[in-house]
Amino acid sequence: MTSDRIYCDYNAQAPLRAPARAAMAAALDHVGNPSSIHGAGRAAKAMLETARETLAGLIGASAGDIIFTGGATEALQLTLEAARVGGAASLIYSAIEHDALDAAARHWPGAQAASVTPHGQIDLERLAALISAAPAPCLVAVMHANNETGAIQPIAAVAPLAHAAGGFLLVDASQSLGRAPVDRQILGADYLIASSHKLGGPAGAGLIALGPGAPFANVRPGGGQERGRRSGTENVAAIVGFAAAAADAVAGLDAEAARLAGLRDAFESALRAAHPDAVIFAKDGPRLPNTSLFAAPGLSAEIALIGLDLEGVCASSGAACSSGKVRGSRVLAAMGVDAALARCALRISFGWASTATEPARIVAALTQVRARRLRTVEG
Ligand code: PLP
Repeated sequence: MTSDRIYCDYNAQAPLRAPARAAMAAALDHVGNPSSIHGAGRAAKAMLETARETLAGLIGASAGDIIFTGGATEALQLTLEAARVGGAASLIYSAIEHDALDAAARHWPGAQAASVTPHGQIDLERLAALISAAPAPCLVAVMHANNETGAIQPIAAVAPLAHAAGGFLLVDASQSLGRAPVDRQILGADYLIASSHKLGGPAGAGLIALGPGAPFANVRPGGGQERGRRSGTENVAAIVGFAAAAADAVAGLDAEAARLAGLRDAFESALRAAHPDAVIFAKDGPRLPNTSLFAAPGLSAEIALIGLDLEGVCASSGAACSSGKVRGSRVLAAMGVDAALARCALRISFGWASTATEPARIVAALTQVRARRLRTVEG
């Protein structure tokens, strides 16, 4: 990427942090399977266990209850399966969960999605009603922060609802770890999920942190790695990079969150000044400091993203893209946003390498794209 390009798609993937790169380089130069008995294997095992302890310490988990996976998608889907086989009798999940969970939940007979408010927050009354009607024990899945809007969910209020009914709480913290305080015990999560590449580690590593008593059947048999809970040789270099990135992100969290909120606020002020008709979603509730989801009416996300790319801005529509086609956002639909406006939704997400000049430059690029679009439509 040339230096004058602006990368503002951290919620899709953050650039690799320097400590992660250094830790991975050392691990990649080491040969040894962590399950091998010999010294090289034991050294790999030591790297793996140090990373496990680091991550456990950062998220209020115990090292023995961390299960490494190949990312958050695998972690979410493995958790659903292991909890179901382990005894969870029903599943209630928020309507704004990531596709990784939403798609898997559809295969769970009788699973029900709980609605959200127009601000993108879980509707606690509706959630409570669904939990009380669901066969016990119920698995309740509510993400910590939404990947599209950045809306932070009231997990402190969700956990007692799940636990009072004898159920278990699954919290997807893929977007919040490194951007907001994340502690398994404080959140009250029986299953906490995180992903490496969202916080500046490599793609292809994720984790599940289990709380005491969380049912988890061994549904991935094989070599018995991860205490039999997820067989397959661990990707030591990626896991070591994950731990180094997470430690780096969490160490500077308060100051960095304030800096990112400043960038996000500067972006939204400039956006409102240049495009008074722009609609910013979920801005009236708690949000991640780095994320802004907005729509410029009449400018479809597809056209906008191509135009912004030509202007040197790497942004996102928020909703999943495949083959260059932007799908309608399930999240905005759940918030009751008009479908035509939702098709114009664009997500700007900042992160550790974002700089103070970027907010104004992104808005200037958007202004160019919109003016060009208007000339095309009118001409
Ligand atoms: N959960 C959330 C909230 C996400 O934003 C993502 C990433 O897109 C995932 C899960 C999936 O993560 P991974 O890419 O590690 O599989």
